[in-house]
Amino acid sequence: MAFVVTRLCEDCVDTACVAVCPVDCFYQPKNPGGDYPNMLMISPEECIDCAVCEPECPWEAIYPEEDVPEVFSGDIALNEKCDTDRDAFDLAEVKEHTPPSAEEVSANRAKYGL
Ligand code: SF4
Ligand code: SF4
Repeated sequence: MAFVVTRLCEDCVDTACVAVCPVDCFYQPKNPGGDYPNMLMISPEECIDCAVCEPECPWEAIYPEEDVPEVFSGDIALNEKCDTDRDAFDLAEVKEHTPPSAEEVSANRAKYGL
């Protein structure tokens, strides 16, 4: 079991999750918006299930695999791609960011019926 990044992360410029992960298992597509959406993914092979990243994500985009909402069920297989198609990914890097407002977080969740 691992943690999973969902589409709530898509187009986020925030990398608060990357900064706290003790095993550096967040990956970003080399061609975001092309083969894969512009979002980070967690390697299920490398994630140690520490749960540190989940509360750090200002977009509330990270879930334990067993709690991923139905609307994001396809994102479990998507996160696995950073293990099975590693050449298409780079290790995610920490970038400067401005956290979203509560209204922005709510509006993003509402897009998916949450
Ligand atoms: S903090 Fe959340 S929304 Fe931002 S890059 Fe990480 S998973 Fe995506
Ligand atoms: S649960 Fe821990 S090991 Fe897994 S992605 Fe989050 S911070 Fe990294």
